[in-house]
Amino acid sequence: MRALILSDIHANLEALTAVLEAAGEWDALWNLGDMVGYGASPNQVLDLIRPISTLTVRGNHDRACSGISSTVQFNPTARAAANWTFEQLTRENIEWLRDLPKGPLQPNDPRLGEAQVSLAHGSPLNEDQYILSMRDAWAPLQGMITAITFVGHTHIQGGFSQKEHEWHEVRPRYRGRNDPETWTLPIPTGTRNLINPGSVGQPRDYDWRAAFAVYDSEACQIIYHRVPYDLTGTQGRILMARLPERLAARLREGR
Ligand code: ZN
Repeated sequence: MRALILSDIHANLEALTAVLEAAGEWDALWNLGDMVGYGASPNQVLDLIRPISTLTVRGNHDRACSGISSTVQFNPTARAAANWTFEQLTRENIEWLRDLPKGPLQPNDPRLGEAQVSLAHGSPLNEDQYILSMRDAWAPLQGMITAITFVGHTHIQGGFSQKEHEWHEVRPRYRGRNDPETWTLPIPTGTRNLINPGSVGQPRDYDWRAAFAVYDSEACQIIYHRVPYDLTGTQGRILMARLPERLAARLREGR
């Protein structure tokens, strides 16, 4: 089966629309959370993503923007955006965000056969943990009950892979910064893998293009994608909403 994996959409409607168009056909959509916060289209994004997501785990911004966790850990910009989002969200969308399960979850799809996976927002051990280095990845890799765990939260596309005493960081290699591109990672048997599809709506790996991944369970591979979107449209909405200007500027920088 082909599963589309999306994370950290962050209320960026233009990026989400471009991603869904580029993704083509898929059998399941696994959503790793942080659908809202930072961006200016929270209800539009939720109205689009809710009916098509097969399985969704909550992110820290989903909790903060729906009022079930405090924003004390957030920087002032993130806090301002969370408060603005809470004001904008419909009652129905707030309730839906509040009821989202915490990861890790297993899709439990019979079409996966031996190729079962787990989904988490930050780490399978702690939903709020950032896995940025092999040091961060080590404990989660040891504790994994499936060969692949999909994680988001860092907004950095790639991941970490281990086979016995060998391990390495995965970073897709792309040629440019302007066109749609893909990069394929084979998943050999006997490996453990933490796979980050990157952020749809606010990439932080110095590539402004929307990021996502497709898992092809029969071919045992991950296809990483980058796709350009209407950046100016997204920035205009952020400025019109009087959200912090930095939230518009950072999208161009991809950080
Ligand atoms: Zn996020």
